[in-house]
Amino acid sequence: MDKDWSEKNKEIQRLLSKESTFGEAIRKLIEFRDELFQQITWIVEGYPEKAFYQMPFAGAKGYHSKTLAYSIWHIFRIEDIVAHEMIAGDEQILFRDDHLSAIASPIITTGNELEGEEIAEFSKKLNVQELYLYAKAVKESSDRILSQLQYKELKRKFTQETKRKLMESKCVSEDENAFWLIDYWCGKDIKGLIQMPFSRHWIMHIEAMQRIKNRLCKIARKGEDPVAVCGLSCEHCFLGEWCGGCRTEYNVCSFATCSEGRVCPNVKCCSEKNIDGCYECSELENCDKGFFVQTNDGAGAARAQCLYIRKHGKKEFLKVQTRLHERYEFQKVQEILGQDYKEALKILEDIWFGDL
Ligand code: SF4
Ligand code: SF4
Repeated sequence: MDKDWSEKNKEIQRLLSKESTFGEAIRKLIEFRDELFQQITWIVEGYPEKAFYQMPFAGAKGYHSKTLAYSIWHIFRIEDIVAHEMIAGDEQILFRDDHLSAIASPIITTGNELEGEEIAEFSKKLNVQELYLYAKAVKESSDRILSQLQYKELKRKFTQETKRKLMESKCVSEDENAFWLIDYWCGKDIKGLIQMPFSRHWIMHIEAMQRIKNRLCKIARKGEDPVAVCGLSCEHCFLGEWCGGCRTEYNVCSFATCSEGRVCPNVKCCSEKNIDGCYECSELENCDKGFFVQTNDGAGAARAQCLYIRKHGKKEFLKVQTRLHERYEFQKVQEILGQDYKEALKILEDIWFGDL
């Protein structure tokens, strides 16, 4: 488990045990859930539709053997059922505001009963943007429930009536891989539910989602040109395992994700000019598109890198980048190269000739 997440979770569980620190525990739990949910947001905003039904670890033992879409569905179905059927005793979010039909899910269960290819087939059917809105609505609703909880309620247990209601809801499949959930949940008090569906369960599945997206990015990068269209090096970029590279559908560079149609202005322009990258463009020195926009701190560095590629080729450029990044982090490299592209070009050439 991620060390930082594990520590935060432990601290929350510790604070939850005493009445005097209960309020702080809930506040920290909600903050922690915000942090974890941000990971889901980045994944949903960053990757193409097909990423959500791929199973790069199919057949493996563990949560990473599922898909990204399944993971989101599963985390929030479980939380929705537990938060509303058990704790609040009101209607689940899935059945409010047309979430179910918008997501187009063929099931209302937690998905535990699905296996192998069934998971990929199920995931293909889901509208991921709507699934995300559902997940967000569940999270916000649970946060409200959590913030209204009283310490004395933590020991509240669940009755046979709750069990009967859960069975009647048909939200847990009767398949042996799923049906145990009802006994599992009903065997806990509210504190026990907070410790699993509302926190630890998130950590485990979000970590699995990270493994899935890292693998998908790695697959996307394979065989692709690591030199970005604007003259950066995807191999040395700070986005690391989050990005499949500038020339793939798994491009999560903000200049792409924040642009119309998710196409970066530099990529669009080079494609219109039918050139490989900005380093082949005669307007490079005065261009202010995309990465070269004046307000971008890295514009001078990227322009210099393009000039370096033009003079010395991509292979030498990548070697210089490796030398630089052996010594400095991405941000520091940008600082060293500075805003004056002519000076930055000299620095890059000095590095190659061993003078820096
Ligand atoms: S700014 Fe555009 S060309 Fe440069 S790395 Fe980002 S997506 Fe690629
Ligand atoms: S005009 Fe700018 S964005 Fe377009 S190819 Fe030339 S340098 Fe790149």
